[in-house]
Amino acid sequence: MTPRLSASAPLDQINEWTARVRQRTALSFEVIPPRNDADASKISELLAVLQSYHPDYIAVTSSQRSGWLRGTAAFIEQISRTTSMRPLVHLACTAGNPGELREWVDVLVDSGVRGFLALRGDLPKGGMPVGYLQHADELIRLIRRREAAQAARFAAGNLAVGVACYPNGHAESANADEDIDVLLTKQRLGANFAITQLFFDPEDYARFYQRARLAGVRIPLIPGIMPMTSVARLERMAGLSGLDVPPKVRAALAAAKTPEEEQEIGMELTAELARGVLRAGAEGLHIYTHNNPAITQDLLSRIGVNR
Ligand code: FAD
Repeated sequence: MTPRLSASAPLDQINEWTARVRQRTALSFEVIPPRNDADASKISELLAVLQSYHPDYIAVTSSQRSGWLRGTAAFIEQISRTTSMRPLVHLACTAGNPGELREWVDVLVDSGVRGFLALRGDLPKGGMPVGYLQHADELIRLIRRREAAQAARFAAGNLAVGVACYPNGHAESANADEDIDVLLTKQRLGANFAITQLFFDPEDYARFYQRARLAGVRIPLIPGIMPMTSVARLERMAGLSGLDVPPKVRAALAAAKTPEEEQEIGMELTAELARGVLRAGAEGLHIYTHNNPAITQDLLSRIGVNR
């Protein structure tokens, strides 16, 4: 068993410990389907770099920008054809009506996908279209029903279904209890794991983790770590997630005199965040790569995860 690490341990001890824990700690990457005009050599380089870390899985987002699942499925096909990484697909209720979602589940299963992240998706301006699933819990049911209907095909491994969770609360939730109740419901309906929305302070993760465990959530709560490369980017990403950048993070980045210095401060803050969540008991690290291999490598080397 890996010895526990004290909160005041020096950096080299943390790095050594992180390297040892890495043998058992899940590592996953999130990537975005490239645009049609994306540079193919850059995408190949991205996949080669990510593969060199032997991640447990690679999660591919889906959105209107990627033609919902069309772009996502095409990218998954490329990943499966050119690498040995296991793809996980993000499926959102906003991607289509239940009939279309069922078809997508089947198409993705046919293409070899065995992992789904079941999401509602960001609400369209006029709200969810009539007839669409309203929440991610209904999507878990839909996926599990498709799985049950084709049980014979899963003899070598069932589908893994993950969900989103929110250390700082979902913007639409009335309070933190609602977020935990929803997570418990998703666990009961068959979610196997959850990945967190971005957050900035390991304490936020640790508090959320403890609350969830006390309430009976048993599935892994995998922290989603977003490299903090600049305050402008951070504010944009936080805004999209309905979050505020904490004043202390903003102040640290604003103290930089050059963009390079700002990135250096931000990456060190991100590495400290990753170390902090591992100390808090996280079962894995999920890196939001934003398709940037250099930044991803930089972050991993700062926390002692080598290729
Ligand atoms: P839900 O679980 O439906 O929750 C949304 C709100 O409704 C919450 O306030 C919740 O408390 C409440 N709620 C939940 N269930 C019920 C219910 N049965 N009755 C009443 N209220 C309920 N979006 C994309 O479009 N594409 C992606 O690829 C994508 N990837 C993501 C990856 C991660 C790791 C995360 C954290 C988010 C991702 N998102 C993505 C964004 C996500 O779609 C949004 O955060 C969305 O606003 C909520 O999704 P959800 O699955 O948590 O929704």
